[in-house]
Amino acid sequence: MAKHGIEYTPDARDPRRVRLYDGLPRGVSRAEVTFRAEGGFRGSRVVPASAADFAHLRTAPETGYEGPWSEPSRITVSEGQYYVRQAVRRIAERAAEIERRVARIDLDCPWCERPRSYLGRIGFLTGHTGFMTDAPSELGQLVDQQHAYRCDDCGSLLHFADGFLPHPLPGRKKP
Ligand SMILES: [Zn+2]
Repeated sequence: MAKHGIEYTPDARDPRRVRLYDGLPRGVSRAEVTFRAEGGFRGSRVVPASAADFAHLRTAPETGYEGPWSEPSRITVSEGQYYVRQAVRRIAERAAEIERRVARIDLDCPWCERPRSYLGRIGFLTGHTGFMTDAPSELGQLVDQQHAYRCDDCGSLLHFADGFLPHPLPGRKKP
């Protein structure tokens, strides 16, 4: 299970280390900013940001697997703090965008004028036909998860692909 969000060590107020799993630039799956001072066994040691002389940034590319870390690059303390703030801002913007989208979705059945109820996740089996046949090929079948809402009066269904919005949706607020 991939990690999410931002991990501050020991806390967000004056961190020594920040690991980011979210809000990153395109193509980056995780990043780490460590705040450092000169000295110590490896030439630098990790210290609270308030006491740091510089910072290290390392990233891992989005490969679908747990890719290796890049070599750390040396940046200034304020560049390190800016990198973290940018991620916080991107996460907040995305949450606000999702909220706007969710608020626009009307779950009401247009014919019965009542809200559809949430049935939960339903797996749609999808696939391709096999070689020289109309029957589905065993390979290439996929279960496509859908969130389903049903009108309990007429049975009409509304589906949303999984992975876009948090479900169940609240439905559009009536004025
Ligand atoms: Zn209906």
